[in-house]
Amino acid sequence: MENDLDKIILTQEQITKRVAELGEEITKDYQDKQLVVIGILRGAAVFMADLIREVKLPMEIDFMSVSSYGASTKSSGVVRINKDLDSTITDKHVLIVEDIVDTGLTLKYIVENLMSRKPASVRLCTLLDKPSRRAVDVDVHYNGFTIPDEFVVGYGLDYAEIYRNLPYIGVLKPEIYTR
Ligand code: 5GP
Repeated sequence: MENDLDKIILTQEQITKRVAELGEEITKDYQDKQLVVIGILRGAAVFMADLIREVKLPMEIDFMSVSSYGASTKSSGVVRINKDLDSTITDKHVLIVEDIVDTGLTLKYIVENLMSRKPASVRLCTLLDKPSRRAVDVDVHYNGFTIPDEFVVGYGLDYAEIYRNLPYIGVLKPEIYTR
């Protein structure tokens, strides 16, 4: 897997440090609030597992799985819910955990969908943000790292379902996804 990477852009140490900082911030912000952390499968699974252990508060966790139709490295904006939440979020404080915000289309859909269930609040925490690619406005409240417009894998992010278990984040050699 390592040989398929052009370069590593975020090391395991950088990620660990930043995740701890985000956890601390979230811990401060959600004191005495009924918190439910919602991970967006499958990309956010690795980040979510590390993040929630840095949030020193009682919380519920739940997961949602969505897919966008269309090409594998570009988002089409048409979103389908493959797995919905198991719990109700009405009157709870929802924190959505996502791997990366690219065009923002997936998250815009998810936020609107969750808002319709009347939670007390909805905030978004993403590990990575690619603001240069944004097509719609999404309010990212907690952001791990802002990255340039490159296709990245590792720490939960895949290409064709591979590379999710790399402990760091890197850029794939273009020949891997164009062949
Ligand atoms: P958006 O709807 O914001 O364009 O797309 C978000 C989803 O696209 C992410 O959850 C992720 O699955 C996928 N995505 C966007 N950029 C990348 C990237 O650089 N690498 C990988 N592996 N997935 C990406």
